[in-house]
Amino acid sequence: MTQIPPTLPLRALFDAQHNASRAQIDVPLVLRRDRLERVRALVDTHADQLSEAVQADFGVRSAQLTEAADLFVLRAGMAQLQKQLPRWIKPQRVHTPLYLQPASAHLQRQPLGVVGVIGPWNYPLQLTFGPAATALAAGNRVMLKPSELTPHTSALMAELVQQAFDADEFSVVLGGPDVAREFSGLPFDHLFFTGSTQVGRQVAAAAAVNLTPTTLELGGKSPCVIDASCDLDEAAVKIAHGKLLNAGQTCIAPDYVLLPRGQEAAFERAYAAAVARLFPTIAGNPDYAAIVSERHHARLNTLLDEAQARGARVVDVSPPGGDAQGARQMNPTLVFGPAPDLRLMHEEIFGPILPVLPYDGMDDAIHFINLRPRPLALYWFGSDTASRDRLLTRTVSGGVSVNDTLMHVAHEGLPFGGVGDSGWGSYHGEAGFLRFTQQKPVLVQSRWAMGYLFYPPYGARFQRVMGLLKRLL
Ligand code: NAD
Repeated sequence: MTQIPPTLPLRALFDAQHNASRAQIDVPLVLRRDRLERVRALVDTHADQLSEAVQADFGVRSAQLTEAADLFVLRAGMAQLQKQLPRWIKPQRVHTPLYLQPASAHLQRQPLGVVGVIGPWNYPLQLTFGPAATALAAGNRVMLKPSELTPHTSALMAELVQQAFDADEFSVVLGGPDVAREFSGLPFDHLFFTGSTQVGRQVAAAAAVNLTPTTLELGGKSPCVIDASCDLDEAAVKIAHGKLLNAGQTCIAPDYVLLPRGQEAAFERAYAAAVARLFPTIAGNPDYAAIVSERHHARLNTLLDEAQARGARVVDVSPPGGDAQGARQMNPTLVFGPAPDLRLMHEEIFGPILPVLPYDGMDDAIHFINLRPRPLALYWFGSDTASRDRLLTRTVSGGVSVNDTLMHVAHEGLPFGGVGDSGWGSYHGEAGFLRFTQQKPVLVQSRWAMGYLFYPPYGARFQRVMGLLKRLL
């Protein structure tokens, strides 16, 4: 595979996109649909190559996992954009208040201009092409900087995009943190970042210099709350699926479990059975992804060692069948009783380690969550709807799945994003389209307008009109 360098230096590429975006502000529906179609075609035609590249980057990651978690979500999003675009790009009528009638008002939906997208490595296709396609559908030019930790995938993406698009339409820029820093300093009309909270802070600071608005899709510790009314066996399968998909390297993976005190042994049994059902073996099982790099693998092992050294009970719940460590596949573990000051309890885990913490009542669980930064996702399992509503009304988070994990991300009608430390701004569906759109408010005055009633000199007529309006409003 050849590394395709960007054809132009970064700033020159940006200038070319910027100039093109100002030369054609009214981007017709047919061109937007054509650009979307080109993204869809390059993904569909090269789906096998793309998933082989992802596999090469991870070491172990099955084509089916990439198909479901990367390509399916991406295709669903693009299909919805193609379908809804004619409706979404139309001017939206807005009701005009009595005192301005008979004027009319509408929102004119326009492209922002040039959108920068910085992507992570964990779902390297969905989280890059997804926002890029949405920004193109909204009529923008796009520069995309995928992760340096998936070099095969990123290089192939650059090659395919270069074949299908002019550089001033859509370009992929390759590089690590140095290039990323330069990239986030460009005066984009919008900068869309997916990655860690720590790097998100740097991106927000760099963008602020140019007053570039940002969307930050960040990470954090997403709680999974098990209610006393929960069927543990059913919940354990869904929690194990959400935690172990991509070996825990999912931004919305349940990070830790809050469990009614006394149910620890039952949960341990149910979770171990669920793991065995989903992954009868770990070592060499292509469905069970490897940890992306030696550095990430070592960090996860350190988190476990620290927990064990401080007296936590670490339980390896992998089914018998060999040590997975050689291929950077990491056995799934439960951690009972972790000390609250451990890194395991402060940092996003991003691996197959699941801390289990007992609570003494729903208010106790709510208090625990509210003491911490606002999470990207929240999960609740049970049948007692009053208890569910108590949790949902008293915590603030990004998306929620009730009696499941992860699935809210696949619902194109639900905006996807975080709040506070887990990010700001959301995308998917119309929320995504609007993220990359200027909704220009337009008031169209009528020749019968009565605005002169408010003009000076402020005499008796003015007082009568204001008096009437006060009674009407
Ligand atoms: P990361 O923050 O290390 O890197 C993300 C991207 O930022 C990469 O392309 C990288 O090159 C770039 N980057 C690095 N330094 C930069 C800088 N100084 N300025 C600008 N860009 C810079 O994240 P990662 O390790 O690739 O991904 C894992 C993290 O992403 C986790 O925290 C996870 O929760 C989060 N994530 C969030 C979502 C979401 O939708 N909210 C989705 C996936 C991952």
